[in-house]
Amino acid sequence: MRKKIVAGNWKMNKSLQEGIELAKEVNNRVKALAPSQTLIILGTPFIHLSEVNKIADSVAISAQNCATEVSGAYTGEVSAAMIASTGCQYVILGHSERRSYYGETDEILQKKVMRALENNLDIIFCVGEVLADREAGKHFDIVKSQLENGLFNLSAEQFTHIIIAYEPVWAIGTGKTATSAQAEEMHQFIRATIASRYGEKTADDTSILYGGSCNAKNADELFSQPNVDGGLIGGASLKADDFLAIINARQKH
Ligand code: PEP
Repeated sequence: MRKKIVAGNWKMNKSLQEGIELAKEVNNRVKALAPSQTLIILGTPFIHLSEVNKIADSVAISAQNCATEVSGAYTGEVSAAMIASTGCQYVILGHSERRSYYGETDEILQKKVMRALENNLDIIFCVGEVLADREAGKHFDIVKSQLENGLFNLSAEQFTHIIIAYEPVWAIGTGKTATSAQAEEMHQFIRATIASRYGEKTADDTSILYGGSCNAKNADELFSQPNVDGGLIGGASLKADDFLAIINARQKH
């Protein structure tokens, strides 16, 4: 059975102290929901990982990136092994901000995926089209090629460590959300694409999250779709009340 997941992506927000406060509040409020059927993940900046891990007993922790290389003279980089050494269990890879601002290609992402798997990190792998691609009717082709070129070199066993996040770039941080029908249509397509490479069972077991201006108001409708297994939440993960409202919406279905 695939997991229901609500993951926050804090991006480059929160001082260490602010991050610890937010993580404590979310962790305690999630604990009060127990038993929760939803896996909650906090995607924090690198410097928060170790401290947040010390207080997190009801939520899991994710990094937002990792290096392509194992170790060595790569000033400013953070390796997957370093991330794992903080107690962190997940890493977000392929976010559209990394693809577009930092030139992360499918080849670069393949290397990062390998480093993460070598260090027993599960991966939230982001895919999604820009507005021009959707308007040109190319959104399915774009997402298919991101999956094929970024992930489909993995073995079936390795693929069990992948969570997909469908994040239409035109919906990220813009206040424009995909309709639940658009999200469901793409999630179905992603699941079918996974099935064609890894088989129905693996596709059924893969959690596929929606991301892009998901908030307390629209989460309920999005999560009511059968192929939307949860959300990757940016802006609304920075306030405990908003994030908890989204978690509660996920719990309902
Ligand atoms: C994201 O960047 O992963 C994201 C979904 O952002 P937002 O929720 O702010 O659109």
